Amino acid sequence: MTTAPASRIGVAILGSTGSIGVSTLDVVTRHRDRFRVIALAGQRNIERMYQQCLEHRPAFAVLTDVAAAARLSSLLASAGCATAVLAGSDALCEIAVLPDADYVMAAIVGAAGLRPALAAAEKGKRLLLANKEALVMSGSLLLEAVRRGSATLIPIDSEHNAIFQCLPISSTVGARSAGLRRILLTASGGPFLRTPMSALARVTPEEACAHPRWSMGRKISVDSATLMNKGLELIEACLLFGTPQTLVEVVIHPQSIVHSMVEYLDGSVLAQLGNPDMRTPIAHALGWPDRLESGVESLDIVRAARLDFEQPDLERFPCLRIAREAARLGGTAPAVLNAANEIVVSAFLERRCGFGAIPVVIEHVLGQHQTVPVSCVEEVLAADEWARVRARAALLKTAGGFA
Ligand code: NAD
Ligand code: MG
Repeated sequence: MTTAPASRIGVAILGSTGSIGVSTLDVVTRHRDRFRVIALAGQRNIERMYQQCLEHRPAFAVLTDVAAAARLSSLLASAGCATAVLAGSDALCEIAVLPDADYVMAAIVGAAGLRPALAAAEKGKRLLLANKEALVMSGSLLLEAVRRGSATLIPIDSEHNAIFQCLPISSTVGARSAGLRRILLTASGGPFLRTPMSALARVTPEEACAHPRWSMGRKISVDSATLMNKGLELIEACLLFGTPQTLVEVVIHPQSIVHSMVEYLDGSVLAQLGNPDMRTPIAHALGWPDRLESGVESLDIVRAARLDFEQPDLERFPCLRIAREAARLGGTAPAVLNAANEIVVSAFLERRCGFGAIPVVIEHVLGQHQTVPVSCVEEVLAADEWARVRARAALLKTAGGFA
């Protein structure tokens, strides 16, 4: 049992209309004595944002799509809801630094979430980081912003949240904990773990998005199917926990019960286990260092019965190999990897290319890139833009030639 703070903690949720956003609101709603919703943000889902505003009455709601924001504004006015509606992507940064927003959930998907995450970090917020792409692309810049702003970063990605839980409470984000030997990053293997290689080229977006264990947004679902998600997470882990990529081992664990493990020099291996439900890491990060009820069912370990582990097949999942190479290169390489991946995944989701094109395009773009160190966000954004242009060109040039 924990006692609620004297005044309620203000929470801003960037990406409230998405899968993580909805789970965050679910946990927050269980603790209305502890939290109040200050601001919500999304891209263009008017209906869901409208419902969220009526239920949570935030001071601000952002839809980055200008027409959608105008429509939301008139709907809310008709309903007598006082929430102020803001439009455009600059508004994301405005709500990320609101004085009343003590905690900022960064749950926008992709590079679009970078600037608001940086803004929240600079302002010293508790940054609940789901948006792994922001960290992957900006490398240590986001962590430096956290340090400058004296912010608190708590990872929401289940694996990184698990690792965070297995580290000493005194550990500092970005610095390697004393006595840490290696990190074992678990991966479910996604929907195609046992699909014959010959059938992979023909898989559809629907099949790729039907994840066996987790219910997630479409982009991360495709990333899980290619194992690029684990590649991005490998880079994320190196940054968050101050380890070289050689100390992060990826292990396939189809049951998704062990969310990751940490091995210490004395041979001790610590793991965090639980049902695969993002409300656990979300509640952990909202409550930390307290523990909050999350709505997640108790783990029935007897029913689970087996915990299997195996090595990933890098021939079947080349994205993991390519991401490890980007991690090794450092500098602008992870931003290029991420941007090329975003472009080709959205092409796949829109049926403009096949599943097999995903690693081919990414490797092609990364292969053309001259990696340089990054010292400011403009350099990151330039590398991101360069990679998007190259990835679009690669997709066009082959016009379906990529399987
Ligand atoms: P989602 O697609 O369900 O939701 C994405 C959210 O971002 C939506 O609210 C959408 O409106 C918003 N958004 C998208 N583009 C935007 C833009 N240009 N401007 C403003 N808002 C924009 O995705 P999700 O599954 O909730 O994932 C969100 C993030 O969390 C991703 O970075 C993902 O990798 C990470 N994550 C998700 C899970 C999960 O279980 N869903 C687990 C770990 C990490
Ligand atoms: Mg994860």
